[in-house]
Amino acid sequence: MATDDKKTAASADSFDVIVIGGGPAGYPAAIRAAQNKLSVACIDEWKNKDGAAAFGGTCLNAGCIPSKALLESTELYHRAQAEFATHGIRIAGATMDVAQMQKRKSGIVRTMTQGILALFKGAGVTGLQGHGKLLAPGKVEFTAHDGTRRTLSARQVVLASGSAPIELRSAPFQSPQIVDSWGALDFEAVPQRLGVIGAGVIGLELGSVWRRLGAEVVVLEALPEFLAIADQQLAKEALRAFKKQGLDVRLGAKVTGATVKGDAVEVRYTDGKGEQQLTVDRLVVAVGRRPYTKDLLAEGTGVKLDERGFIVVDEHCRTGIEGVWAIGDCVRGPMLAHKGKEEGVMVADLIAGRYGETNYKVIPSVIYTAPEIAWVGLTEEQAKASGRAYKVGVFPFLASGRARAMEQAGGFAKVVAAQDNDEILGVHIVGPLAGELIAEAVLAMEYSASSEDLQRTIHAHPTLSEAVHEAALNADKRSIDNINR
Ligand code: FAD
Ligand code: AMP
Repeated sequence: MATDDKKTAASADSFDVIVIGGGPAGYPAAIRAAQNKLSVACIDEWKNKDGAAAFGGTCLNAGCIPSKALLESTELYHRAQAEFATHGIRIAGATMDVAQMQKRKSGIVRTMTQGILALFKGAGVTGLQGHGKLLAPGKVEFTAHDGTRRTLSARQVVLASGSAPIELRSAPFQSPQIVDSWGALDFEAVPQRLGVIGAGVIGLELGSVWRRLGAEVVVLEALPEFLAIADQQLAKEALRAFKKQGLDVRLGAKVTGATVKGDAVEVRYTDGKGEQQLTVDRLVVAVGRRPYTKDLLAEGTGVKLDERGFIVVDEHCRTGIEGVWAIGDCVRGPMLAHKGKEEGVMVADLIAGRYGETNYKVIPSVIYTAPEIAWVGLTEEQAKASGRAYKVGVFPFLASGRARAMEQAGGFAKVVAAQDNDEILGVHIVGPLAGELIAEAVLAMEYSASSEDLQRTIHAHPTLSEAVHEAALNADKRSIDNINR
């Protein structure tokens, strides 16, 4: 339980806790530490392209939030064109004002990042904008953006320096033609031909944004399987939907080179048939992210990096050096904002002597395309590989009255449960608002629920969540609203 930790009167240079990095891992750690009555500083060096410093890290400035803003705008545009007539809504000549779309996105980013300043003020966190470097346990060098430098001290230091896009040697960034995900969020016009390297979460979301606005999009993915990390029944359904939307996803296509020629890019790749070539106007490299720890650690701090550059930590994010912790994208585990946030909260509670735990087995994944894709826990393939007998229940949105009313009846919900004790092992959803629906499955799994628990839970009618309910029923072939197979 809570300790009676009293906040050490923070002098300008001395704190109980210093957090380096103000992204979705670092800023929640700072706020929770302050809630725990500790004196806290959070150092962050992020600067936006206009030169303005902003808290919020990749997520708020160049990741989760701007991408969702563009996905929303473009999906509305697409639906206005492709779907409104079905509802009887006649709108002739809808056009997209890309500048306005980008202005709206930037406004959301500004409001959200400034919101962190307000949160810091409310919680009593000292926000410091500039570079932080761990000199030794308890000692942090802070260099403000104006170059002034001072040494701060803290009983505990939390490293939350995040990640950066991976650059391909075969296709080095060359703005404006060859860009990373941040560049692709900022296009001022719709490229006629867009190449995307990597059919991961980021590649699919960005490809969808520009495809909906009319770009011819080719996604090159080195692996032979689509979304290899997801349940393959889910992945197949999603791939079918993406292809129908005109997203040209080429699997087993490994990019070997890219050359800027005038305002276009010549991309070379190999697939099962040999050497291939593709010419695009813009190329987005979305092949993943790497941990970012540049100038974060002075010589001799003892903090270790693994062979891929991640800060080595245990399951409680301890680095093994007394008083030094690390959280978020710069440590092992999925690179997701909510995973980092949970680690930040855990560490801030452990520092204050409270209970803290991150349940790494129950971290939801969401891809905010249309259809949305979301899952938690084991895929059917992983359940099979584990050797434990399992059962599967599926419910298609075609049989959901709400999904039909929304004109979004593609996809399904799927529950994988253990045959022996009925424990829910995984839930997979492809379809409308899958990212919202998965929260119920996350909560169920957090409580180690059985499929029967979901079956006996009353779901409002008509809602999309009934699909999860019916999928759980179908695991025992007791679905009411669908033929049990
Ligand atoms: P970051 O957000 O990278 O923040 C680290 C901060 O630390 C940065 O501000 C950096 O400038 C600062 N910093 C680094 N070193 C220092 C230093 N030495 N001194 C001072 N400051 C320093 N995740 C999701 O969960 N959902 C999504 O929908 C989603 N969409 C994404 C879309 C895109 C296009 C991208 C690129 C990513 C997306 N992600 C998404 C991933 C998500 O953004 C990251 O997992 C998350 O931002 C990681 O949080 P973090 O705090 O660990 O690191
Ligand atoms: P993610 O890690 O989810 O962002 O996905 C990145 C994707 O990029 C993975 O599916 C990789 O297989 C893919 N990828 C990495 N390198 C290449 C390459 N040279 N050509 C095509 N795809 C690649």
